[in-house]
Amino acid sequence: MAKKTKTEAELLKEKLFYERKNALSDVTEKSEKEITEYAENYKKFLDAAKTERESVEFAINYAKENGFKEFEYGKKYKAGDKIYYNNRDKSIYLVVIGKENIEKGVSIAAAHIDSPRIDLKQCPLYEDSGMAFFKTHYYGGIKKYQWTAIPLALHGTIALKGGKKIDLSIGEKQEDPVFYITDLLPHLGKDQMANTGSKIIKGEGLNILVGSKPYPGEKSKDSIKLNILSLLNKEYGITEEDFISAELSLVPAEKARDLGFDRSMICAYGHDDRVCSYPILTAAVEASKKTPKHTLITILADKEETGSNGNTGMRSQAFDDMLREICVNMGANERMVYANSRCLSADVNACYDPNYSEVYEAKNSAFLNCGVCVTKFTGSGGKSSTNDASAEYMAEIRDILDNAEVSWQTGELGKVDQGGGGTVAYMLAQRNIETVDIGVPVLSMHAPYEVISKSDLFSAYKAFSAFFAR
Ligand code: MN
Ligand code: MN
Repeated sequence: MAKKTKTEAELLKEKLFYERKNALSDVTEKSEKEITEYAENYKKFLDAAKTERESVEFAINYAKENGFKEFEYGKKYKAGDKIYYNNRDKSIYLVVIGKENIEKGVSIAAAHIDSPRIDLKQCPLYEDSGMAFFKTHYYGGIKKYQWTAIPLALHGTIALKGGKKIDLSIGEKQEDPVFYITDLLPHLGKDQMANTGSKIIKGEGLNILVGSKPYPGEKSKDSIKLNILSLLNKEYGITEEDFISAELSLVPAEKARDLGFDRSMICAYGHDDRVCSYPILTAAVEASKKTPKHTLITILADKEETGSNGNTGMRSQAFDDMLREICVNMGANERMVYANSRCLSADVNACYDPNYSEVYEAKNSAFLNCGVCVTKFTGSGGKSSTNDASAEYMAEIRDILDNAEVSWQTGELGKVDQGGGGTVAYMLAQRNIETVDIGVPVLSMHAPYEVISKSDLFSAYKAFSAFFAR
């Protein structure tokens, strides 16, 4: 059938209207192959790095393999140098020194590597009614009822007196045991289900089932607890007191998997914000293979989900100390470096979900497969706590993305006055850096198993690559 020629009005619409485009509707075989290959590697990263510590370890290994060297105080860096700054094994900055004078500004892409999860308290272990449990305090904004009755894995670090550290990961291998938060059977759930969602499971109800067998031959109180501690002592040499200096977290034990008959999506734990971290990291390493024009900085921050505080969060001076040290040793005016810098603050956005259309405003929402989402402002209720990027910087970013043929869209998180949220953008902007929010749309954000599109993931990679090539 011959193609119908377009009317004048149709042509004019194409020219004048802003429409989001589904990047998969006319995807070539070649780019689909690229998308799929990239997604396979992303899934490996997701499974290898479920916590910020594991993400830092992954990033260091990857950076070192590609010629990055650990940051040194007092060193005079020059164009082409590749540096990583390991902030306490929980956050990391990568720097590639560019050809231009650093006073012309650096290109910063920032994402976070912590995700919502369930942390152990410092005195976690107890026995009740023939079972042993861990007490927990959840980390980040979760719907608590989503975390019951699913297999959980235990990840983390125990720091012992005297300086020794033990890294743990139990529940990831098929032969490993998993852990579990019990829920009430529906037969007895009448009163529970009459509660509002936030009270179906209470904070102090997120207790982890970890054992049920008494210490051999022991019938006294706490014999199950004794058996658990004796197993842990045999395996790791620890006592109950050692939990005081431990950071142990429960995360979903599930692996990242393709979603849908067409395998166009990935469901996994912790897309927020590894779906931005991974594209930044891979784009930075790729860009480091030739000396870039501007100096490039990658920030993979910790503690975003709890407010970016602490010495590994985005509010920490550690980042500024590193950048200033580099500037001073290069003889650069650090204030000029900040003032002329550009930043993409990369964090996920809410993907428009037709099952909950009442909370979105469709003209200004991010849609699945329509590309990485640029968000001028975040915040809630009258743009409270927003960075709100300038019109001028938005135009600059449009140029960069369009020139590189990146599939991208704009979108806001939900309807006005529906709720909202923000991330680290304003913390970078307040350092006198041009900053805008960008990120991949996510379905079921903060659930144990979140969903993204492979095409949007790849468009994020292309966006950061284009930004690093500016
Ligand atoms: Mn996030
Ligand atoms: Mn989040």
